[in-house]
This record gives sequence, C-alpha cells and structure tokens, in this order.
Amino acid sequence: MEKLVSRYIESFMTELVSKNPGETEFHQAVGEVVKSLAPYIEMNPHIMGQKILERMAEAERIVIFRVPWVDDAGDIQINRGFRVQMNSAIGPYKGGLRFHPSVNLSIMKFLAFEQTFKNALTTLPMGGAKGGSDFNPRGRSDAEVMRFCQSFMTELYRHIGPDTDVPAGDIGVGGREIGYLFGQYKRLTDSFTGALTGKGLNWGGSLLRPEATGYGLCYFAEQMLATRGEGFNGRTVVVSGAGNVAQYAAQKAMRLGAKVVTLSDSDGFIYDPDGLDEDKMAYVFQLKNFFRGRIKEYAQKYPSAQYFPGQKPWGIACDIALPCATQNEIGKADAESLLAGGCKCVAEGANMPSTPEAIQVFQSAGILYSPGKASNAGGVATSGLEMSQNSMRLHWTKEEVDNNLRKIMSDIHEACCKYGTEADGSVNYVKGANIAAFMKVAGAMMDQGAV
Ligand code: NDP
Repeated sequence: MEKLVSRYIESFMTELVSKNPGETEFHQAVGEVVKSLAPYIEMNPHIMGQKILERMAEAERIVIFRVPWVDDAGDIQINRGFRVQMNSAIGPYKGGLRFHPSVNLSIMKFLAFEQTFKNALTTLPMGGAKGGSDFNPRGRSDAEVMRFCQSFMTELYRHIGPDTDVPAGDIGVGGREIGYLFGQYKRLTDSFTGALTGKGLNWGGSLLRPEATGYGLCYFAEQMLATRGEGFNGRTVVVSGAGNVAQYAAQKAMRLGAKVVTLSDSDGFIYDPDGLDEDKMAYVFQLKNFFRGRIKEYAQKYPSAQYFPGQKPWGIACDIALPCATQNEIGKADAESLLAGGCKCVAEGANMPSTPEAIQVFQSAGILYSPGKASNAGGVATSGLEMSQNSMRLHWTKEEVDNNLRKIMSDIHEACCKYGTEADGSVNYVKGANIAAFMKVAGAMMDQGAV
C-alpha cells in the first residue's frame, strides 16, 4: 500500500504542476500537505477513489476582474482583482484580502488552499477562500485607497455575502481598507450585514479581532513550549514584520515575560538588544498604524536599537522565532542561522513563511516548529466569532473573546498532538495539522457527494 500511495501522490503532483503551470507557491503549499497525508491515505485508501485531493486542489470558483480607479493626479490606474473560492464543504467561504504588488493567481491559490485547512482546524464552520489585488497601498493617499477599495468592491460584492463568502484583512488590508470596502458593500446591496470581518467596533466589529492573530500565535507557542517544560518568560524572541500580526505577537510575547529584540519590514530590520517595552510598543503602533512610517524610524527614535537595511532578522541569537511578515521569508540558510543562534522554537504567524528546505532543517534538528495554518489560525477564528456576534446581534466582552480564542488555540494544539505525535514522543505539527484538517474537510466532501 505504501508504494501505491507514493505513486499516486507523485502522479497527483505531476498533474497539478502541469495543470497549473508556473504557480510555484501553489505547488509548494499543496506539495507540503499531500506529503504529510501519505500515512493517512495508506490507512484510508478510499480517499484516492473519491478523488478528494484532486477536488481539493481545484478551486470551486475563481473570479479575476479589472479594478479601474483615478489617482490624485487625475490619471486612470488599472489593477487586477482576485477572489479564489477554494472549498465550501464545511461552511461559507472565508479568508482575507491582500493588497500587495506581488499578488498573482499562484499566491491567491496557495493562500486559499491553506485557508481551507486552517479554517477547518478552528472547529468553526468556515470554508476556505482568499482574494486581493496587485494594488500597492504604500505611498497612496487615504482618498486614493478609498477610491481603489470602492472600485474593487463594485465587482467583488456580487460574489460575497454573510452566508456565501466573508472576506477579511491580510497584508495591506487593515481597519482603514475594511471600512472603505464595507461602506461600498453596504451602499451597493442596501444592507447592513456581516459580509466582512475586521470591522470597526462601532459598526459590527469584534473586540480583540485586531489582536487575535498575534495573540493566538503566542497562545499556541506557549502550548508548544509547555510540551518541553518551557515558556516565554525570560526568553529572547525574534519577530519579523511590523504589521498587524507582528505588532500583537510582539506585544503578547513581551507581556508573557519575553524579551522581543527585532521587528522588520521589506526594507530591513531593527535590533534592540534591550528589548521592546510598553512605551516602545506604543510608539510602533503609532508609527505603523497612524503615520504609516517605516521600521527604520524606530532606530532613529531609540539609540539602543540598530537598523540593518536590506536584511532579515534570522541571524540574531534567540530562543524563539515568530516569522510574521510573508511567505518564504525563511530559507535554508536562514533556518541554519536560527539554529546556530540557539533558536529552539519557530511558530509561524505569517502564511508559509518557511520554505520546504527550512522546515526540513527545523524538523531534522528536532526543534519545535509549527506551520502557520495551525499557529496563526487565531485571526480567522476570531473573525468566526465576529460572524457569530453579528448573526446574534450581540457584542461579547474582551474577556469572552479572549477566553474563546485561548480555547480554540488550545484545541488546535491538541488536534496537532493527536494526529502528529511520532513514535519518539515528539510532535510533528505539520503532519498533525494537515491530517486533522483534512479528515474534517474530506469527511464533509464525501457526505455531500460529487459537487
Ligand atoms: P500587514 O500588511 O499588516 O504587515 C505585513 C508586514 O510584513 C509589514 O511589515 C510588511 O513590510 C512585511 N512584508 C510584507 N511583504 C514583505 C516582503 N515581501 N518581504 C519582507 N517583508 C514583507 O500584514 P499582516 O500583519 O496582516 O500579515 C502578515 C502575515 O500574516 C501574512 O503572511 C498574512 O497572510 C499572515 N496572516 C495575517 C492574518 C491577519 O489576521 N491579518 C491572519 C493570518 C495570517 P512592508 O510595509 O515593507 O511591506
């Protein structure tokens, strides 16, 4: 059976690559999942006959559209919009919108595929989707961002809705963008519904949604560390990114007693050997969220910090690494640098930040390593809680949402341990997360027939 499954997976991957040429991120995300599913398929060979993998890797629907808008100089700009509705077996499509110049179909499909698994892990009824545009909000005025968002929603609104597809934020889409998108959705549909999450608190948003991905990441990492009798207290933490996920991951790690020494953006990273504190964090929130500044300004404000242009933070000695910027930001050499610097735990806040070669380095060294689909699921989980509050027309307290978030992250950790514990007692979080999520989605797909 082992040989049969391995041949099946090989031919499945060959066909996937030939059907989706050039989509390297999508091949990478699917390849990682199917590799770890092999032992499960050996025990459940009907998965092959039911063509579950083939169905999961084919989006239920993909919409690609023109987004024309007028910039402040009066010139017409054209961007490309996407929505990949990957899988609705366990609930309405759900997944963020990314505005970044690198956005293309491969990135959208990899993110939507990952999202299907992540959403299944949250235990909430949400299918998987992702969307966005190659629009670059960097350097654009608020008025330009608003006009872009309105044009983007003028097409997207036909494809979403509270029971159909509920987008949220991702890279380049935060509270400001969700506000403009929601305003236009409401205007076009003449309805005030929970068709987007990450909304403002005064108009249907949930407390703790902005914090949820970063906080959830730290709750998950706490559980990983606890399997080895460890915790955040007194540990040195390296964080990449300086956006939504990085900010709240850094804040929570710091509040759990760790010394957070780095933050980064696509231009470079800052190293502050004294560590972040509440005042420095408040400065970072202001700098990034209100002034939309660059992380190098941190080193100008705090002389204890050094700025390293054009570099990533993985060469800094640490106990724990929290990659929170973007896909493939840790390659093999970066992974080796982390190990050389004493890193014992890598918990992913970003989606697929480690390349397959980097994951191999972490797993061979036997350090704690968790894939984003497990450790960053707190964001979409809290979006699910926002949907519940919207449906019930209720508003939960911060404590209620935080307790729910902690419980969900703990349940995801338990599922990873249940399906990922190896004979030597170590936990393979990649295998555990993939099998737990796959079982749920595949089961629902088989129940619902060939649709
Ligand atoms: P933000 O836009 O708020 O922040 C992104 C950060 O990453 C910025 O500091 C940005 O720097 C940096 N970054 C982006 N692209 C690159 C790149 N190519 N190289 C180096 N740095 C880069 O996004 P989020 O914090 O929301 O998202 C970060 C990651 O977390 C993404 O992988 C996202 O998919 C994932 N995620 C987000 C969730 C959420 O709730 N927001 C939920 C789950 C996962 P710069 O300003 O220079 O672009």
